[in-house]
Amino acid sequence: DARSRGEDRIGFFRKNFETKATKLIKLKAELESALHNNEFKPYYQPCVDRNGLIMGAEALIRWIKNDKIIPPSEFISQLEQSELIIKVEDKFIESVVSFISQTKKEGIPPYPIAINLSIKSLNSKDLFERVILKIKQNKIDTRYLKFEIVERAFLEKFEHLNKLILRFREKGISFSVDDFGTGYSSLSYLAKLPVDFLKIDMSFIRALSDEKTRNIVRSIIFLAKELNIQTIAEGVETKEQFDILKEMGCSCFQGYLFYRPMPESDFKSLLMERKNGQIR
Ligand code: C2E
Ligand code: MG
Ligand code: MG
Ligand code: MG
Repeated sequence: DARSRGEDRIGFFRKNFETKATKLIKLKAELESALHNNEFKPYYQPCVDRNGLIMGAEALIRWIKNDKIIPPSEFISQLEQSELIIKVEDKFIESVVSFISQTKKEGIPPYPIAINLSIKSLNSKDLFERVILKIKQNKIDTRYLKFEIVERAFLEKFEHLNKLILRFREKGISFSVDDFGTGYSSLSYLAKLPVDFLKIDMSFIRALSDEKTRNIVRSIIFLAKELNIQTIAEGVETKEQFDILKEMGCSCFQGYLFYRPMPESDFKSLLMERKNGQIR
């Protein structure tokens, strides 16, 4: 009886081990076919100014799998472990650029759209050429494209990124440091980054009720201003957070208090409403 329990346990462990390993292999294969079948789609989350007016949006990847919407937390790190992320992001940039071009054709006032770039894409050889080609083919203005790079990427490849960003900026494409405050870089480091925007990580916004956090956020905003860098607060969920951040001089806001990420069609309707003067 004890023996059969032991066997059960071994059987249980083996089964668990197998499911974990095979799950990962299965996921990799599924991600390849998802790319092939165009199942990765951009969702758009507007960001607003101090008056709540839309200033632009961030394109956030979703995997639409049999009508289920799968968030990046469930697949982006797996993608980033292989070169597949470069292809996925290349296609993602294509979708966003073509959306910008489509709205332009339909006379909808365009907004700058920010795209997140993985470290692998940033290190891929012809990123600059591929992006510029898409912009030319779709005849969009470079002012409407932005890129976001997580702070920790700068710690790894500062010189390379510095050069790459300067090339893009010469063409009119702007850059944000994403998740600022989580990458263990010092504030003095900020002066060396050739970026236009700094996105204050959501963890700081969550902790604004804490006085020390408020002082840190205030210093970040102050220093960014001195350096001519605009600040965007991520994950603003309450009116209190919005008020505190405004009082500190933060210039842009993104979060569920204003808008949630939405599918392309909804985002387009929102922009049309704006065009027709129906909202704010
Ligand atoms: P991120 O770039 O920092 O994007 C902000 C995340 O915060 C998004 O999660 C957004 O939906 C979420 N968010 C916005 N406002 C609020 C709020 O008020 N409350 C809460 N709780 N969350 C809010 P999402 O869309 O799940 O994306 C997660 C992360 O996945 C992104 O963080 C980004 O690092 C990554 N990601 C998304 N798309 C791409 C992509 O195309 N390429 C790469 N490399 N990474 C991507
Ligand atoms: Mg981002
Ligand atoms: Mg972020
Ligand atoms: Mg993040």
